[in-house]
Amino acid sequence: MADRLVAPPLCLVCGNAMAEAPDGTAGLCRSCENALPCIPEGRRCQLCGGENDTALSVCHECATTPRPWLCGVTAFPYHGQAGALIREYKYHRVTPYAPYFARKIAQAWQDSQPLLHPECVVPIPLHWLRRLSRGFNQAELVARHLAALLGVSSITPLRRRRATGHQARLDADSRIRNLRRAFVVPPHEVSRIAGRSILLLDDVFTTGATLTAATEILLAAGAAEVAVATIARA
Ligand SMILES: [Zn+2]
Ligand SMILES: [Zn+2]
Repeated sequence: MADRLVAPPLCLVCGNAMAEAPDGTAGLCRSCENALPCIPEGRRCQLCGGENDTALSVCHECATTPRPWLCGVTAFPYHGQAGALIREYKYHRVTPYAPYFARKIAQAWQDSQPLLHPECVVPIPLHWLRRLSRGFNQAELVARHLAALLGVSSITPLRRRRATGHQARLDADSRIRNLRRAFVVPPHEVSRIAGRSILLLDDVFTTGATLTAATEILLAAGAAEVAVATIARA
């Protein structure tokens, strides 16, 4: 008599069998989930999704920096165990984390009372050389899972024109100027985004410069509106 036809799911972090199966894909057991930092409900910035200490609906950084998108969410603050998981995913290609991150982003998105209904999810592209050396685009894989959860398509209309230099050494303005030249929507991709509502996805929100440049390029190419989502907010 088979009590169990399917092996119990294992926690992605500790490898222990999990008491209850998450919806179809691998996840974290309760104690590993509890060890992750989280952003308190009701104190999330409407534009970056990060923790918001102000009395406004947006954090200090978003209040003082132009953000060309409508609203944004993130799944985790980028520190502690959440940062460690993302680095493992990104640099050691632990791809089973992708559906888990997508689930957490989808949850944050649904909880946020978003201002738009996305028609597609668009990942921030890597330059092809970096993609080749890393073996995958960490944002693209999460975007595919997120699109499936939201019931929309995942498309890749953005290209990275060339590897950008050392962004860290530049001030915010030159960083955005530099990045704006780095993204392009090739002519044959324009019809896929024209007039559409887009959810733009990146792995980590640091200054927002990458998302700003990509949003501006999408809007210039005819996208109707853009929202952003990230795995974590630094
Ligand atoms: Zn665990
Ligand atoms: Zn913010």
